[in-house]
Amino acid sequence: MRKPFVAGNWKMHTVAAEAEALAAAIAADAPKAGVDLAVCPPYIHLQAVAKVLDGTSVSLGAQNMHFEAKGAFTGEISAEMLLDAGCRYVILGHSERRHVFGESDELVARKMTAALSAGLHPILCVGEKLEEREAGKIMDVNERQIRAGLEQVRPEDMAKVTIAYEPVWAIGTGKTATPDQAQEVHAAIRGLLADLFDDDVAQATRIQYGGSVKPENAAEIFSRPDVDGGLIGGASLKADSFLAVAQAAL
Ligand code: PEP
Repeated sequence: MRKPFVAGNWKMHTVAAEAEALAAAIAADAPKAGVDLAVCPPYIHLQAVAKVLDGTSVSLGAQNMHFEAKGAFTGEISAEMLLDAGCRYVILGHSERRHVFGESDELVARKMTAALSAGLHPILCVGEKLEEREAGKIMDVNERQIRAGLEQVRPEDMAKVTIAYEPVWAIGTGKTATPDQAQEVHAAIRGLLADLFDDDVAQATRIQYGGSVKPENAAEIFSRPDVDGGLIGGASLKADSFLAVAQAAL
C-alpha cells in the first residue's frame, strides 16, 4: 500500500518570523502516522525552518534547485546545499518554473538526475495547460514531461521519486480537477510508469494531485485509488487548512 504524501509549496510567501511560526504550528498538530508530510518554504528560510521541524513528523523540501553541483551560477542553489540545509525533498518542474521561467523538459531531467545522485527525493511536477486539455492533448503533454523527466532515472531510484500531477489550469485559480478527472490522469500516469519500468515500480510510486486542493475538496480527491495525497499551494499557507488537508489523506 502506498502511504499518502501531502506537501506544502509556500512559493514566494512568508518572511522569516511567519515561516517559523507556520512550520511550528503545522508540526505541533501534524498527524504522526498514516501520511508523510513536508513543507517547502522559500530557500532563505530553509535552515530556520529545519530547526523548527527537527524531531517532528514534518519533513523539509525546497521548491527548485540547479543541476550543477557548484560553480559560477549566480543566484542558484545546488542539491548538496539543500541537503546541508536539512532538505529531504525538492520540487522540480513546477508549472511556474516551466511556464513563467521557461524551464524545458531537458532542464528538468538534468535536475532530476542531480537531485537523485545527491540523495534528495524529487517531486516531479507535470501537467497540461487548459488549451492542451481542450485540444485533447492531456496525456500527450503529461507523457512527454514524464518520459523526459524520468529518462535517466534508474528503476532502483524510483522509490525516491514522487510524481505530482498538477493541471496548470487548476493551480492557484480556484478551479480544481474533479476527482474523476484527476483519477483518470493518475491511472494513465501509473500505466505509463508500468511501461517505462514495471508493475512493481508503477504500484509503488506515489502520484500526488495538485491544483486548488483545500479542506473542502481534499477528502474526495484523495479517496480516488490512484491519488496518493497532494501538492498544496494556497491552502498550505495557513496551518489549520494545511492540517485539514493532511487529515483528509488519512
Ligand atoms: C502548487 O503550487 O503546486 C499548487 C497546487 O497551488 P494551489 O494549491 O494554490 O493551486
